[in-house]
Amino acid sequence: MKTLLDRFSRYVRIDTTAVENAGTYPSSPGQLELGRMLAEELRGLGLRDAVQDEHGIVLATIPATVAHAAPTIAWIAHVDTSPETTGRNVKPIVHENYQGGDIVLPGDPSKVIRVGDNPELANLKGKTLVTTDGTTLLGADDKAGIAVIMEAAAQLMARPEVPHGPIRICFTCDEEVGHGVDHVDLQKIGAVAGYTLDGGGVGEIDGETFSADLAVVTIRGINIHPAIAKGRMVNAVRLAGLFLDRLPRLAQSPETTAEREGFLHPYRIEGGVAEVTLRILLRDFNTPRLAERAELLRTIAATITAEYPQASIDVNITPQYRNMADELAREPRALAFAQEAMRRAGVEPKLTIVRGGTDGSRLTELGLPTPNLSTGEHNLHSPLEWTCVEEMATAVRVLVELARVWGETS
Ligand SMILES: [Zn+2]
Repeated sequence: MKTLLDRFSRYVRIDTTAVENAGTYPSSPGQLELGRMLAEELRGLGLRDAVQDEHGIVLATIPATVAHAAPTIAWIAHVDTSPETTGRNVKPIVHENYQGGDIVLPGDPSKVIRVGDNPELANLKGKTLVTTDGTTLLGADDKAGIAVIMEAAAQLMARPEVPHGPIRICFTCDEEVGHGVDHVDLQKIGAVAGYTLDGGGVGEIDGETFSADLAVVTIRGINIHPAIAKGRMVNAVRLAGLFLDRLPRLAQSPETTAEREGFLHPYRIEGGVAEVTLRILLRDFNTPRLAERAELLRTIAATITAEYPQASIDVNITPQYRNMADELAREPRALAFAQEAMRRAGVEPKLTIVRGGTDGSRLTELGLPTPNLSTGEHNLHSPLEWTCVEEMATAVRVLVELARVWGETS
């Protein structure tokens, strides 16, 4: 527990805030700095091939201890933190033997982690929590995952009697700004299954994500001086209003859906009389339903252009990511072994769904089945972020058991 907490405290002190539209990779120099530190620590643990590649991605191998050819698996976490709250000058505060109740953060007493908003705190009396001082984020997303992987690697290297196959470690950059897998080379990882350590609480396995498309709707009207517009102007701004009005609003919207329901989400509008573009997110767990939603957009476009034949409306759909469950089905061991590892670590596994995408959904689509595991993250991207050292320690035990379970097969 002590070394786990030490590692975590060391990693969160390095500012690895990701930057949107940075034009470099990784988007901030702190990510390279943390990566260098991790590669060195891994070499120090005896992982001789530990490297930081030209993109800042750290790769290393925990060598197999079994004689048979056990499949290679990968443990993955991201070094960057969310730009939504600053990650500069993080001063982690350790609350040993938490006694329950709200936690006032000393650097900004208006920031309070309330039990009412964090019901999971009720089960953590007597545990060790780590919070911020209220002025930054903590960076448990995803430095909890990094600390957990590092600690599991240290334990396996120190205990060669634990039977397991080869384990690849991969620390990625810029996950928070949507570039987490841009430079990940699956050939170099060479694993049959991967696990991202980037999940909330304890005992959860995210095995399903949304499938996602982006629709860009371009509405073209006819612009002319308003003084002489009678009978001639076709105002794309008004047509955009019509278009939005015909989208479902009381259902199939993020504001009205939860759990397994998908939605259409218009989130940006730009333009003027001559041309307006609408950007609309299409989301569903059931991938074929995305096509139905796209069809709805085309139907709305067709009804409007039937009323305004001088206007034109283009609906352009781009795929973004796919439900990882679609591809995970091809490697059922990825989920089954994670569940088995949790049971062996004394945790009741719970299969959960993510109303969004993860790096794992991209990796799974690219051919590396990659569910996401709990690592004790709470209140992500916020100054109210916190973690629990015992939950992180449980995640370490899960990884060690996961290594064993995979080591038993060939
Ligand atoms: Zn994360």
